[in-house]
Amino acid sequence: MSFVINPPRQAALPVVGGGEFPVHRIYCVGRNYAEHAQEMGFTGREPPFFFLKPADAVLVVPAGETGTMDYPTQTKNLHHEIELVVAIGTGGTNIAAADAPKHIWGYAVGLDMTRRDLQNEAKKQGRPWCIGKGFEQSAPIGPVHPKSATGELTRGAVTLSVNGTQRQKGDLSDLIWNINETIEILSKAWTLAPGDLIFTGTPAGVGAVVSGDVMEGAVEGLGTLRVAVR
Ligand code: MN
Repeated sequence: MSFVINPPRQAALPVVGGGEFPVHRIYCVGRNYAEHAQEMGFTGREPPFFFLKPADAVLVVPAGETGTMDYPTQTKNLHHEIELVVAIGTGGTNIAAADAPKHIWGYAVGLDMTRRDLQNEAKKQGRPWCIGKGFEQSAPIGPVHPKSATGELTRGAVTLSVNGTQRQKGDLSDLIWNINETIEILSKAWTLAPGDLIFTGTPAGVGAVVSGDVMEGAVEGLGTLRVAVR
């Protein structure tokens, strides 16, 4: 086989302990913490829904480093959403919640960066969210921690501060749809594949950042993800 143009580079995340995790698709769960659903104008009891980001929206932030995200075009309201990211190691369809842990390879801390003004306009017009959610560098992610090292994550603080001031705080145990249920529901609609990432939803306290801001997000047990906005 000879490609007629150079094939795109495989998106990949560094793995704690060595190696790289290749990224296939990036699924995101909407409104998966009750308080955040409420701050967005919903009750928190709706079934989960999903959107995707392209794999190359990943902004790789190696352990201990500060990532740099360029302020994106066409927005005046760039929002942070700190989330636990689940890395899928074994694919499948119709995965039962009870079997879901076997499909999880590891975990990472991620930011679902959102052009909120464009997303809100898309909602109003009944249009897709791609322009609000799926732009370049919209998925800053730290290194993948193997599940073999962390164990299964079901609880733990999820926090985000901007310039040292805390903005978001939640706990994995407060997820409306827990990780196993999310994998069950997601895998009914799509065939999960090795390399898929799942952004599991953000706790309350989302807000805007501007050039010069530094975000520090954390999920208990997975360290800190530090990203500066340029
Ligand atoms: Mn999100």
